[in-house]
Amino acid sequence: MLGSRRVGGPASPRPVPAASTLELDAAARTAWAEPGLTAGAYTTAAGTYGLATGFGDTASVGIGGITLAGGVGYLVRKHGLTIDDLLAAEVVTADGRLLHTDTQSHPELFWALRGGGGNFGVVTRFQFRLHPLAQVLGGMLILPATPQVIAGFVAAAQAAPEELSTIANIMAAPPLAFLPPDQHGRLVVLATLCYAGPAAAGQRALAPFRALAAPLADQVRPMPYPAMYPPEEAGVHPSAVVHTRFLDHLGGDAAATILEHLQTSDAPVRVAQLRVLGGAMARVPAQATAFAHRGSPIMATVVGFSQGPADKPGRQGWLAGFAAALGQGDDGAYTGFLGEDGSARVHQAYPGATWDRLVEVKARYDPTNLFRHNHNIPAAG
Ligand SMILES: Cc1cc2nc3c(=O)[nH]c(=O)nc-3n(C[C@H](O)[C@H](O)[C@H](O)COP(=O)(O)OP(=O)(O)OC[C@H]3O[C@@H](n4cnc5c(N)ncnc54)[C@H](O)[C@@H]3O)c2cc1C
Repeated sequence: MLGSRRVGGPASPRPVPAASTLELDAAARTAWAEPGLTAGAYTTAAGTYGLATGFGDTASVGIGGITLAGGVGYLVRKHGLTIDDLLAAEVVTADGRLLHTDTQSHPELFWALRGGGGNFGVVTRFQFRLHPLAQVLGGMLILPATPQVIAGFVAAAQAAPEELSTIANIMAAPPLAFLPPDQHGRLVVLATLCYAGPAAAGQRALAPFRALAAPLADQVRPMPYPAMYPPEEAGVHPSAVVHTRFLDHLGGDAAATILEHLQTSDAPVRVAQLRVLGGAMARVPAQATAFAHRGSPIMATVVGFSQGPADKPGRQGWLAGFAAALGQGDDGAYTGFLGEDGSARVHQAYPGATWDRLVEVKARYDPTNLFRHNHNIPAAG
């Protein structure tokens, strides 16, 4: 196979099974990838050909879980969710068969795998589409967190060309060496931006963000796409409470609400993360895959770290109050960001007809609910 490459999942702090491979066909711009690979290992290998598939914002996340959840990352507005680049998957189903699934072969199962999580079998290989993407204009931009800057950031992200995807974390500034020490611990907008196109056009697209306030740090620069995944601290697995909802809009009042709630918590780390969606992701019809929230313009995720089981209930209370205060839009969930939330939240990830269709697929491919240690869709809804 021309341009074929097998990698063993290096360059990640997370242990990867030695047998995990990536078979990349650079000429066809496709890759067969085994789920032991991380997003970082896949992206690094594909990057050597100037090619990319979009995953999330973190190198150490496994391609298995993120793909089955949907996959919202740095290319979401340009190329859609990870599942929008999923061409086929091989799955071992509950009855022990190894099935090839795509839009022609077991199409209902392939539909369910694209967003329905680990409910339908064990995926042994994914086939992804790759996009030419040698360079991006990307990196971190840190701005002071005021209601005007937060609302302005969201408005700029919505008005930006689809090449630009953004993730804005409103949080207490970590003690980063390149931030003035008097900013450490103060609420900031710590944003990661990725412009997947020519740098000059990217600089123009970024101008409205830089004009919101004098940046506290501006690390945005032309870089190879894999550099969007900086090295991570090995072995850091904080305990956290998380709640995602989808917002219709985010103006100054909602931004002020966000700041108030972040100020009232003493969690060691608390974050409100705003991802402006739209673009390629929104052009795929909501019924085309099991990821049901494509029409939502903004995904908001609130996170509070907890020190252990003892302070978790308090953190949960804060989280529930925060999510409720945001109050508009759709309290839909994203499977990738669910924890031990219970069946009601799983339902919210798959509203209406999506749930009914997933239950039908489950009844057909896993009627005894063998695959139940997950965000479970039972065979009888
Ligand atoms: C630090 C961090 C950052 C994140 N950032 C993003 C982001 O930017 N965008 C985003 O969309 N998500 C993001 N996520 C969420 C992430 O997509 C989910 O946590 C995902 O489940 C992780 O997958 P995994 O394979 O690493 O985990 P695992 O724990 O291995 O898998 C999670 C679940 O997925 C299912 N699964 C995994 N592999 C298979 C398989 N081969 N066959 C069948 N089922 C399988 C199983 O149900 C399993 O329990 C992030 C998570 C973390 C921890």
